Amino acid sequence: MVDVDDILRTAIEKDASDVHLISGIRPMLRIARHLTPYEGCDNLTPEDMADIYDYFIRGNIDKDAVFTKTKKLDSSFEFNGLRFRVNISLSGDVPVFTLRLIKNELPTFEELGVAAPILKAIQEMGYESPMPVQEEVIPFLLGEDNDVIALAQTGTGKTAAYGLPILQKINVSQYQPQALILCPTRELCLQIADDLNDYSKYIDNLKVLPVYGGSSIESQIKALKRGVHVVVATPGRLIDLMNRKTVDLSNVKNVILDEADEMLNMGFTDSINEILAAIPENRNMLLFSA
Ligand code: AMP
Repeated sequence: MVDVDDILRTAIEKDASDVHLISGIRPMLRIARHLTPYEGCDNLTPEDMADIYDYFIRGNIDKDAVFTKTKKLDSSFEFNGLRFRVNISLSGDVPVFTLRLIKNELPTFEELGVAAPILKAIQEMGYESPMPVQEEVIPFLLGEDNDVIALAQTGTGKTAAYGLPILQKINVSQYQPQALILCPTRELCLQIADDLNDYSKYIDNLKVLPVYGGSSIESQIKALKRGVHVVVATPGRLIDLMNRKTVDLSNVKNVILDEADEMLNMGFTDSINEILAAIPENRNMLLFSA
């Protein structure tokens, strides 16, 4: 049984700025810049998540809070005289969701430097305030050229953390890959490309192409010929395209390794090195690992 009141009390006591409740990991309290596990319970099971869900939906959030079409809810509530925000996202029918409780006022996406067309898109998706990894990574990537290593699990908002700034930096009039995202699986590849398409909905003509094994290489080659700005790829298929000289990585300025730990575990090290060798050295490297 998880005791949400106790988690909240601990957060207040330890002066945590926010708390993450994510299925499969134990609650994390964010104290200063660091995440500290909440010692009261171990990994959160789907049943725990259902209890927590009830706690908020049935009891503690504003009565008029509604889920958006994308199954997200952003609302606030009071606990022991302090205001928290709760952010819930449901993924499919599975009771897996992310809760976020924020004690302090957060900067807005606008204050982090996110530009108008992207702001409009993410507002429509129900993103009201940046998640912690976004708060840290977005201004950094929008600033001077930087390499970043971030530790972030799925569900923490990492796709937007790197996606928003790299999309914002694309020169749309230049129809060449300027950003490359490498990820371990076809599913993740498609999901990232979908997210990037959603974020760039109001940037005219920006093209994101997912390339992954198991689907027609011919149609991927055609799309590359027509011109794309962002390539999201699994390493094996990208190498295949490179060998056929159908993809030009010489204008890539940002490389993201999403689930880098997983790619290394899956034995993609050589492929990744081969891909990186085809990209100019003055690129930015962003590495995300669980
Ligand atoms: P990710 O870690 O990138 O897989 O993101 C986890 C989930 O959180 C996805 O459903 C995102 O659409 C959602 N998400 C990301 N950033 C925000 C935000 N700032 N506010 C609300 N939902 C978000």
